[in-house]
Amino acid sequence: MADLEFNVIIESLKNVLSELYSSTTMSLWFDQLSIFSLDAKQVVLLAPTDFKKHILEKNYSSVLKEKLSEILGFDTKIKIISAESEESLKNTADTSGKKEESEEDVSAYKLRFNPEYTFENFVVGKSNQLAQATSLAVARHPAELNNPLFLYGPSGLGKTHLLFAIVNEIRKNFKDYQILYVTGEEFTNELIDALARKKPVAFREKYRNLDVLLVDDIQFLANKLGIQEEFFHTFDTLFKQNKQIILASDCHPREINNLEDRLKSRFEMGLVADIQPPDLELRVAIFKRKTVDMGFEIPNDVLLYLAENIKINIRQIEGSLKKLKAHSLISGDKINLNMARTVLSDFLKSAENSDNIIEKVFTYVTKRYGVTKDALKSPKRSADIAYPRHIAIYLIRELTSLSQKNIAKLFSRKDHTTVYNSITVIDKKMKNDVQFEREIKQTIEELKG
Ligand code: ADP
Ligand code: MG
Repeated sequence: MADLEFNVIIESLKNVLSELYSSTTMSLWFDQLSIFSLDAKQVVLLAPTDFKKHILEKNYSSVLKEKLSEILGFDTKIKIISAESEESLKNTADTSGKKEESEEDVSAYKLRFNPEYTFENFVVGKSNQLAQATSLAVARHPAELNNPLFLYGPSGLGKTHLLFAIVNEIRKNFKDYQILYVTGEEFTNELIDALARKKPVAFREKYRNLDVLLVDDIQFLANKLGIQEEFFHTFDTLFKQNKQIILASDCHPREINNLEDRLKSRFEMGLVADIQPPDLELRVAIFKRKTVDMGFEIPNDVLLYLAENIKINIRQIEGSLKKLKAHSLISGDKINLNMARTVLSDFLKSAENSDNIIEKVFTYVTKRYGVTKDALKSPKRSADIAYPRHIAIYLIRELTSLSQKNIAKLFSRKDHTTVYNSITVIDKKMKNDVQFEREIKQTIEELKG
């Protein structure tokens, strides 16, 4: 089967999954997942690293199997392999597989770029103007103006879009430039891998001979002092050679946990630009632009209704439009206000004032488990408190679009570790205990209503 068809399938899968999981979960575990081969019996999925393969197998294999079966229209088995283990690549190699995905491609992170993210299709408003303007300036004049450029803001507001727009723009005008886009997580994994294989020199050569380095989600380096040490030297080497560095993060450099002071000060040395949630005017403009890109039109009253109600992030804007378009195609009806109301009720609920939902969760958990709100927010780790805390965290994650970091703040935790643990514990319990799963799902529905 052609790669193109694989792409369609994997994109549908990611779309479905993105309705179930947070954007952090999506980018951690699913973003780089691809289809290696597919036949009437099984889909072989390719994960970039052994670690991810392991996590996917352990925590997500049943949902992957279920959703892929739905998409393909028949019951399929799944198998997950890792690009790191060459052997498994060879063993499963099948003529229809992605042959070109050689070891070199995978481990070298050749320039990844996303041609769909450009400056041209980035809609500008007050809340993202500075980030957009400085990104464009840097793309037109690399290493001449703002170095480093540091973009920060909550998830789903266009940071990654801008990074790829920079990549695309530089590729046009500086054809021989060595450009590398990585996420903080990839940098980390690659470094660990290079050290394990005793090949730090190759790693350094690769990172220190670039003209432009873009690191997305640099907050991943929080608390990882060893990795920060290496990144510091990468940064310094490039900077001293007057090479452009661009970083994106979900928070200001000063707010990244346990980030070495010398890195903090370097991150702030150039220009730090934030992106804020879009105001109504910008939301309307984005809705308009996205409908044009998606090739359909919606009446103005629907447009305004959507823009007034969908506020949190731009990924939701895209998601809601896809739903609306699909609904209109299937029903054959023209898009109108009533359709928008029905189809989008899910989205609107999730966009409902999250404070409200959070209060509801606390009320529910304190009553159901006989604990106080203060206890839930306290550092206490005894089971009688930790368990309801896991539940509360899980529910808030499911019912709001708060980042793990912001959920952590609600529980007076410095970083997202507690949140991550809670989600893992509850996910696991739900998998092993049908009764419990039902209760949680029912609670979620009730709290939504
Ligand atoms: P982040 O990296 O900040 O989490 P992304 O760059 O992934 O956010 O953006 C999420 C989605 O919203 C992407 O599909 C992106 O194209 C779209 N998007 C964000 N901001 C804009 C904008 N100003 N104009 C057009 N699309 C946008
Ligand atoms: Mg991003």
